[in-house]
Amino acid sequence: MTEPATRCGFVALVGAPNVGKSTLLNAFVGAKVSIVTPKVQTTRARITGIRVAGASQLIFVDTPGIFAPKRRLDRAMIEAAWSGAQDADVVVLLVDAVRGLDRDTRQIVERLKERNRKVVVALNKTDRVTKQKLLPLAAELDAGGIAQEIFMISALNGDGVEDLLGYLAGRMAAGPWLYPEDQISDVPMRLMAAEITREKLFLALHQELPYALSVETEMWTEIEEEDAVRIDQIIYVAKEGHKPIVLGRGGQRLKQIGIAARKELGEILGCTVHLFLHVKVRPNWPDEPARYREMGLDFPRQ
Ligand code: GDP
Ligand code: MG
Repeated sequence: MTEPATRCGFVALVGAPNVGKSTLLNAFVGAKVSIVTPKVQTTRARITGIRVAGASQLIFVDTPGIFAPKRRLDRAMIEAAWSGAQDADVVVLLVDAVRGLDRDTRQIVERLKERNRKVVVALNKTDRVTKQKLLPLAAELDAGGIAQEIFMISALNGDGVEDLLGYLAGRMAAGPWLYPEDQISDVPMRLMAAEITREKLFLALHQELPYALSVETEMWTEIEEEDAVRIDQIIYVAKEGHKPIVLGRGGQRLKQIGIAARKELGEILGCTVHLFLHVKVRPNWPDEPARYREMGLDFPRQ
């Protein structure tokens, strides 16, 4: 049998919030395509990253953490996560080696079992635990019966990431590549730009506004004569009282957020970015279908 010329497939990254899915995706791709913050549930949209390894093109889908749904937005995110897992050729279940098999992870394992879905387990954050702790955890996951293979990695410092990538590359089916060789994501730049601003908001606001905001790119205007782009974004908050928190004293906080986002956007786009941020109060945004479309999510009817 001859080796196929090219291979291609989808790999879904699933796992409890905060286990390191976005960090791993960025490590695979070698660039930041998904936002990473120390807080849970920051990945909202379905973000893809694309990587060529040898003859294989791997299309990774970073999913929002799978957790118990309460609000409509939570349900939309979970739907996106599970449909990402269903469509994938290979599912990588990330487990935080420090937290071990917590409730969230056990729930995911149960659901995978119900669906007869085998997964590749990646025990992440091994830089933070000792071997003595890792081995029993690996044994327990192995005994669970859903693991095809178990890898120990650190998405943060890169340990084991290449091994995992090589294994996944070998698991892709023969077929043509779906994207050009140098493409690293298929997320529209408008959405990516909104995600970057949302990351800066999270980092600046700490505990104050963890959840009730959303960012949309409203306008994207190329200014050819200056090799620049003007980006206008709206930050939607759910309550009037949230507006001054985002703005900060004399608008200083929003200004800093804008500076950080503009810098990163400039690096990604390789041109000058003029970023304009507007804050709007929209009490019902978590119930508006249009907001979900912008995030690449389906709107759950209830
Ligand atoms: P997600 O919610 O699963 O997408 O998790 P993130 O990728 O956003 O990561 C959550 C937190 O864990 C961030 O603070 C990361 O820097 C951190 N993290 C991710 N991978 C590792 C790792 O391998 N080692 C350590 N020490 N921290 C990590
Ligand atoms: Mg994430």
